[in-house]
Amino acid sequence: MLATPAEVDALEQLQSIDIENIHTSKKLEELPQRQALLEVRQKLAAIVKKKTQVQDMLDTAEDELHGLMAEDERLAAKQQETQEALERVQGDYRSVESYTKDLHGVAKRREKLAEDMERVDQQIERVKPLMDQIMDGCANLEAREKDLIASFQQEGGALQRTIAENNARHQALQDKVNPELYRAYQRACKECGGIGVAQMVDGACSACRSVFDASKIARIKQDAPVSKCPSCRRLLIVSDQAKES
Ligand SMILES: [Zn+2]
Repeated sequence: MLATPAEVDALEQLQSIDIENIHTSKKLEELPQRQALLEVRQKLAAIVKKKTQVQDMLDTAEDELHGLMAEDERLAAKQQETQEALERVQGDYRSVESYTKDLHGVAKRREKLAEDMERVDQQIERVKPLMDQIMDGCANLEAREKDLIASFQQEGGALQRTIAENNARHQALQDKVNPELYRAYQRACKECGGIGVAQMVDGACSACRSVFDASKIARIKQDAPVSKCPSCRRLLIVSDQAKES
């Protein structure tokens, strides 16, 4: 394949830049923050779900408590009124009996309400520490998420800049290589896992390590400075020394 020494040089530089970008992209893909963020976000979603459940529990208990307290307030007022009425009807046996019965009923109901309020109150007191724990957990996870994002942006940003710089260098080198050679390079990269260029070293391919016999070496030398490895199909650079030996 026809290539000037400058084109061969550019081809080798292209290969080294592209390999660096393959490694850099892999690093970016495998940044540990990515997995850690995923895990933190799963935990956050779970804890937020738990928080909603506990909040619902608290809301229900507080509604119940308010209902009980409102009823108790009404009954306290009624108790007061009945007590006053009772004092006014002293001597009227029937009325006294009726009011006393009412008072007794109200007192009994208030006793039951006091028990219920105590029970709901205790329930709320039991749930509150759990809610505090959940809020702490949420805050910790959110802080961790924030740190991970910052660290990911810092490390990932640097890697992305390297990739962009290498892409620009690739573009500049592409302009230094004739289109046919560049297409052959692209094809070889695609077919050979990103490494499309090898050198012939001591009659062998530096990439796939195939050792060539005399007739193959002769054919390769005819194509110099750029041939193709008969084994792995990579572009095979034949140095001047290899040509002469
Ligand atoms: Zn090879």
